[in-house]
Amino acid sequence: MHAYDEELAQQVMDHLLHRLRLDPPPLGRLGEVGELSTALKDAIGTGPRPVADVLRTYTDDLEPTVVSCDHPAFLAFIPGAPTKAAALFDMVLSASSLHGVSWLEASGAVAAENQVLRLLADLAGLPPAAGGCFVSGGSAGNLSALVVARDTGRRTRGLGDAAPVRIAVSDQVHSSVGNTLRIIGVEPLVVPTADHRLTGDALRTALDAAERDGGAPVVAVVATAGTTNAGIVDDLAGVAEQARTRGLWLHVDAAYGGAALFVPELRDRLRGIEHADSLVMDPHKWMFAPFDCGALLYREPHLARAVHTQDASYLDAIHGADGDTPGEWNPSDYAYHLTRRPRGLPLWFSLAVHGTDAYRDAVARGARIARWTAERVRARDGLELLREPELTVVLVRRTGWRPEDYYAWSKRLLAAGTAFVTPSVWEGETVARLAFLHPDISEETVGGILDSLVGEGS
Ligand SMILES: *Cc1c(COP(=O)(O)O)cnc(C)c1O
Repeated sequence: MHAYDEELAQQVMDHLLHRLRLDPPPLGRLGEVGELSTALKDAIGTGPRPVADVLRTYTDDLEPTVVSCDHPAFLAFIPGAPTKAAALFDMVLSASSLHGVSWLEASGAVAAENQVLRLLADLAGLPPAAGGCFVSGGSAGNLSALVVARDTGRRTRGLGDAAPVRIAVSDQVHSSVGNTLRIIGVEPLVVPTADHRLTGDALRTALDAAERDGGAPVVAVVATAGTTNAGIVDDLAGVAEQARTRGLWLHVDAAYGGAALFVPELRDRLRGIEHADSLVMDPHKWMFAPFDCGALLYREPHLARAVHTQDASYLDAIHGADGDTPGEWNPSDYAYHLTRRPRGLPLWFSLAVHGTDAYRDAVARGARIARWTAERVRARDGLELLREPELTVVLVRRTGWRPEDYYAWSKRLLAAGTAFVTPSVWEGETVARLAFLHPDISEETVGGILDSLVGEGS
């Protein structure tokens, strides 16, 4: 089973190259439970099966029911659109069993990942000492960072390991932050937002009130650079100033919006991000890396090391007897993980192959098509633009539609193979939401989607 099998390799490669050449790939469809359990019924037996048969199960029955998030018209949630270079190099990672736990085992992979982290840190304006690691995504990054925020906050205040503390978050914060706080036993101080944006003023008011309410001390604040639902960037500079004057840890969740740092015209919206004590960006979103790739950075990585380094006698070898040599880096020390794939390498490869200018242009394209779409919506009878897009999300009301109309519309577009667009809720109302990301989405396709909203065309 571990021997190289030329025929198996060829068949898998053939499939892979076929999929990579499809431009665009089929949009895909929703699978049915019955259909899928029938397809899988005899897939795994006690003995071998011909590779071609197994591959056919995958290509004919499974793959079509996975909606292609790299289809340019996948506009739901936050799409993914890996570059071909990044997607292919992800395969190198898997096929070479590359791992990225420690410098001892994987120095070359770790050095290249750190080169990318450095590039991202420079874009954000973090100091030279900043560093971290790649994790599976924004959720893992938020969890890992907020544990460091919690423990550092307790330590610097002379509180015990289990002392209750609070972390300030806005009422718009990503659901993964809410999950994190439940998991790590930290109560949120929820700061109400005016106009969906956390501001320094709102934070000040909430912190003043928190000082009087007799609750646990607030040790950190989470700001969002690009909310997932609407692409709204918090007042990072104002929040950072409050954090600095009150000695709070500033965590910036830029899982979606961080890529805007590549584009000089968008970067100004993220002003203040350079003050982050910890920062999360998801290259598997708007930086065109394959899943699963989240970048986690700390202003002072030693604080993360103090929290996350795992202690076990069999791990002594990776930490060395006299502490780390400068430059040697163990990614396992900066998040809650141990074994990990060096998932930053596909991004490294693609950045090296294409250069950062190509990234700047591809990121900018998403924002441009969002602005174009907003203008079209505004000009159109029957459609209402709910908010000027800051990044790449456009929220649209179809006059007179009820929630079920939006859901039926979404279903129709997917069934027709035109686009994958899911409704969302804005200020209590079901609306259409278009999240752009793939640079190859055309004005023509978007125009067709808008037509379908007002009942012209499909
Ligand atoms: C997507 C997203 C997350 C979660 O990231 P995953 O990679 O899905 O775990 C967190 N915060 C924001 C703002 C996001 O857009």
